[in-house]
Amino acid sequence: MQAHKPSVAFTGAGISAESGIPPFRGENGIWNKYDPKVLEIKYFYQHPLESWQAIREIFYRFFENIQPNAAHLQLAEWEKNGLISAVITQNIDDLHQKSGSTEVIEFHGTSARLICTACSGSTESKMLSFQHLPPTCSKCSSLLKPDFIFFGEGIPENAHKAALHHSQQCATMLIVGTSGEVAPANQLPLIAKNNGAKIIEVNAEPSLYTSHITDVFIHGKAGEILPVIHQFLLPIS
Ligand code: NAD
Ligand code: ZN
Repeated sequence: MQAHKPSVAFTGAGISAESGIPPFRGENGIWNKYDPKVLEIKYFYQHPLESWQAIREIFYRFFENIQPNAAHLQLAEWEKNGLISAVITQNIDDLHQKSGSTEVIEFHGTSARLICTACSGSTESKMLSFQHLPPTCSKCSSLLKPDFIFFGEGIPENAHKAALHHSQQCATMLIVGTSGEVAPANQLPLIAKNNGAKIIEVNAEPSLYTSHITDVFIHGKAGEILPVIHQFLLPIS
């Protein structure tokens, strides 16, 4: 039996910024170049080719060579050391898994898999060349869709359940690189706080949480701050 309540990390687009993935919004945001409607579920079914042309560029050409940074690696090491029990992420870039984390709750799904819109069969993205668009299912030839949620879709049930469980049980939630603006994911730290957890936040800018529920705010880049926290923890881990 565990002698202490576990801690969890809750991450967003900011943790992948130092890997070279721009956020969706803001000055260098993805939506300055692409129209967000390509990720609206209704539009996707009505215009699969047009949507897939943008999706391929954003998630399968651009994400292809992206590597985890020091922040992802630090979280993976903390999981191995037993300092955190899971990472709940809003990201769909697969970088937590690539860095070695195993308990990763993908609240918005993942770009690493495609799902058939007819038979629900799944295909690993890396198995496809994306030369012919839109990609189709090898079993039934129907349209494939990335296995992350589009605007207008609900949270995957298993991820939702697991995220709630960890948020309710954790002693500490470490927030990294999220503005807290995207619902319902942004409720998870509030649930943790209401269940007695301490909230530690690492963000490049203050967020909606900072003056509201955060107990300790560390202002800076995740890839620089997390290894410094690790140095500080070394004598006790
Ligand atoms: P957001 O873009 O709303 O906020 C990013 C936050 O990260 C900001 O608070 C910013 O101050 C902070 N930040 C930026 N660079 C940082 C750094 N180097 N270190 C620490 N913090 C840094 O992101 P969000 O809250 O995750 O919401 C965006 C939504 O878009 C999410 O739903 C997410 O799924 C999706 N998204 C995912 C990816 C990805 O998979 N990598 C990329 C863009 C957007
Ligand atoms: Zn199929």
